[in-house]
Amino acid sequence: MRNLLIISNWKLHGNKYLINHFINKISCVIKNCNFSIVIAPPLLYLDYMQQIIKFYKCDNCILLSAQNIDIHNYGSFTGEISAKMLKDIGVKYAIVGHADRKIFHKENNNIILKKFNILKSEGIFPILCIGETEREYQNNQTITICIKQINNIINNLGILALQDTIIAYEPIWAIGNNIIINPTYIQKIHNAIRNYLMQINYKISKNIIIQYGGSVNFTNILNLLKQPDIDGVLIGKASLDTENFIKILNAINNNFIPSVANI
Ligand code: PEP
Repeated sequence: MRNLLIISNWKLHGNKYLINHFINKISCVIKNCNFSIVIAPPLLYLDYMQQIIKFYKCDNCILLSAQNIDIHNYGSFTGEISAKMLKDIGVKYAIVGHADRKIFHKENNNIILKKFNILKSEGIFPILCIGETEREYQNNQTITICIKQINNIINNLGILALQDTIIAYEPIWAIGNNIIINPTYIQKIHNAIRNYLMQINYKISKNIIIQYGGSVNFTNILNLLKQPDIDGVLIGKASLDTENFIKILNAINNNFIPSVANI
């Protein structure tokens, strides 16, 4: 069974004040929720946030994710952070292949593969972002593109590499710009991804968490989570406003009874 997981990606936002405020408020809500949340603050704040989460005694339901890692574990790579370092401070997840990294840092499939591989070798759960550009969407290529991006992992590391991995379907054109896509359309894409995986490995396809990300907010969250193949959401902008995020968490908690966790 798949569990419901909500991921909050802070991107290049936040400071110590926000971390204290956010965790203080969220901790009161999340203790009564039947699901976990994963927060991805800027790398610099991971260790600090970890301490605040422990202070508010919610480290069993708020987990941390890195937004990025280097392709190496050690060496002369000034300015980088490794998967080994994340493991050292107890970070459980890391985002890989986010659209921001593809667009602004020119990350390609080869780099994504290396990052994915190094995360697996350190036992950190990759949150693998996949998704099409607007032009690919208009050309009806969404499913082909998503499967190609997943095959980048499967063809090089084998299907079992997708065990303990989260797939985040994030159409690049819908991220950060209030483009609300019809949930039934998103369900169709998620279902196509799951069906594709089913042809290769039944257990992985049944268990893998496939999340949606792209302008998720209070108004569309419930309709998204009603879809059978949408196992959670990755939220950027709408998760940065603490009160708004609490509204989202309460709405989920009041409307869904998540299944038993598998991660
Ligand atoms: C994201 O950061 O991956 C994201 C989906 O952002 P937003 O919710 O702002 O579209």
